[in-house]
Amino acid sequence: MTGPDFAFTIDATEGSARAGAFTTPRGVVETPAFMPVGTLATVKSLDPVELRAMGAQMILANAYHLHLRPGDDLVRDLGGVQRFSGWDGPMLTDSGGFQVFSLKSLNTISEEGVEFRSHIDGSLRQFTPESVMRIETNLGADVMMQFDHVIPGQSAHSASKDASERSIRWLARCRTEFDALHAVEGAPRQALFPIVQGGIHADLRREAAAAIGELGTAGGATPWQGWAIGGLSVGEAKPDMYAMLDVCDAAIPRDRPRYLMGVGYPEDLLEGVARGVDLFDCVAPTRFGRTGAFLTATGRVNIKRSEFRRDPRPLEEGCGCSTCRRFSRAYIRHLTAAEEVLGLRLLSLHNVHFLIALMRRAREAIRAGTFSAWSRDWLARFHAGSPQATDS
Ligand SMILES: [Zn+2]
Repeated sequence: MTGPDFAFTIDATEGSARAGAFTTPRGVVETPAFMPVGTLATVKSLDPVELRAMGAQMILANAYHLHLRPGDDLVRDLGGVQRFSGWDGPMLTDSGGFQVFSLKSLNTISEEGVEFRSHIDGSLRQFTPESVMRIETNLGADVMMQFDHVIPGQSAHSASKDASERSIRWLARCRTEFDALHAVEGAPRQALFPIVQGGIHADLRREAAAAIGELGTAGGATPWQGWAIGGLSVGEAKPDMYAMLDVCDAAIPRDRPRYLMGVGYPEDLLEGVARGVDLFDCVAPTRFGRTGAFLTATGRVNIKRSEFRRDPRPLEEGCGCSTCRRFSRAYIRHLTAAEEVLGLRLLSLHNVHFLIALMRRAREAIRAGTFSAWSRDWLARFHAGSPQATDS
């Protein structure tokens, strides 16, 4: 599972921020990086060629969704999720914990696992740490996430502690199953990332990080190749999220990539980078695109506003994305008003590009030793100019 397949190097640091490179079997990811989300093995409406052209280096897929449809065994038989989806670069699968625990049809949670009904056909299913490892191994992405017990963001200490400790017991079972599956000849070359949970409680975050670290090296095993921070950006206040990132920054080893799950608002990316986070993902940029919203350096704007009806300018002046190089706000507004599919595609393309480019500039700033000044100015402009901070 480890050895030369995975490596993490840090080229430059500024405070807790780091610029580096995460090497996986299918290529190198320059960090910090934003990873577009392809839940169903597709970043909604975007072609892998377009993702590559805008600088995407690693993308996500989701174990829950692909298990239900088309089936992880089918994906395995067709060469794994990368070959199946036409994306030949590094890829990560989420375990489906977040999806399963969000389901209204969630049946029972026990120490063994979770019973739920498929949102597609209502059939009764069970996820356990072991079954999720089998699913993610079938999918075959470079990085797979542990199965964890996900709870609402502002859960009380007792509920957070219960879920965090169960997640660590499930991590031990994930590791055992992962090792068994990958001891087989011909198994995909993958790394398993643990997830630090603990809600908004600093003591639980610290305890989780310590326990996960011990588990990683138990029996002389190679330490985890990367760490994830979960259960943030799920309804808690932003200061609480940033405080937890400070706690995790101090508690998680610095020589491994840190992945902040499900966080992708521009301001949160920069606040995360400042606290030592290397990888981010979020469905927001494509979801924004489907609602007519686009990101700019002065905030989020909706293309449906009437002032854009005759606006010949690109979505954002100076943006190098293929939408802004070719199309006007007036045209994209027209497409959106007419509910033409190209409209949401062009908006999504710009939004994903925006976050990838933001992380590229963060890398450059860290290397130049100017990250803290640059991000302070960037955030001031973004917050001051945010004309529709509450839209969509
Ligand atoms: Zn653009």
